[in-house]
Amino acid sequence: MSLEYAYSLDLKLEINSTQADIAFKENKITSQKNFRCPECGIAITCANLEKPKKDRKRDPYFKSVEDHKLGCKQGNDEKARKSQTQTEEDLYGGIEVFPNKVRINLTQATAKEQGNQHNDESNSSVRKNQKTNHINGNNKSIQINSRKVSSLVVAFLKGENFEVSLPNPYSEDISLQDLFIEIKGQSLNDLEQDCWRIYWGKAWVNKYDEFYQIKFDNFLCDDGLKPNKQGNKQVQPTFFVAKRLVENYPYKKFNTENMDKMNRKPKKVFILADTPALNSQAKHINFMLENLEYLEIIDLD
Ligand SMILES: [Zn+2]
Repeated sequence: MSLEYAYSLDLKLEINSTQADIAFKENKITSQKNFRCPECGIAITCANLEKPKKDRKRDPYFKSVEDHKLGCKQGNDEKARKSQTQTEEDLYGGIEVFPNKVRINLTQATAKEQGNQHNDESNSSVRKNQKTNHINGNNKSIQINSRKVSSLVVAFLKGENFEVSLPNPYSEDISLQDLFIEIKGQSLNDLEQDCWRIYWGKAWVNKYDEFYQIKFDNFLCDDGLKPNKQGNKQVQPTFFVAKRLVENYPYKKFNTENMDKMNRKPKKVFILADTPALNSQAKHINFMLENLEYLEIIDLD
């Protein structure tokens, strides 16, 4: 699921994540953020590197925190992996089911559903699946309560609260109200690393040839950022929605027509994502959008 090798800025050589782990323990690597794509130079983070071993749910691994440059082979491999439909097993394999904990439904629409182009997604926004799971060797049926990001947003805005079970690789239980993080000028250091959260705030959708840029209205800051014209180390965080994601999306909600309608308009945007990070040029702070199931855009109040 991740890059095998990354370039270490501290060691000035290409290493794998096991070597990174050893070098970090020997204080030869100072931060999990000090890595670059060996081919195109974009920023890479070695997830879990700074976490004590006992708190790690999996060994450290490399993840890109901005899009690879055009033509980067590593980037193309990553794109190919991402375009594969995520199954429930990819998302929640190995995570115990509790009937009182809500899972996030991130599986993309099936071919059958895709035939239903004119249907809005709302029909399936609260979906309760009956699934059969083997517990202690017994064939016992338990109910999995799973809800789409759009449905969690509605519940969050209503002030509801319940336990949410987050998917791999950061499996974790968290209360709904703690899952949502409003973007309001925080420093990157204040944000917990290596976890799923739903970041949200007022944002603008800007249309470009190959993608839509989503730019939050409020700032995030970081000491490593190049100062802006006013001399502040802060920037409006962004992420990109590739045109191909929109073109392949089966629901009306994020089809090309509707995305184009949002161009240059203020919206309220929610993205389920890994911790945002500084890009390699230290000019931007980016979120990485996995696919459109991880996104919700609604009108401002
Ligand atoms: Zn690359």
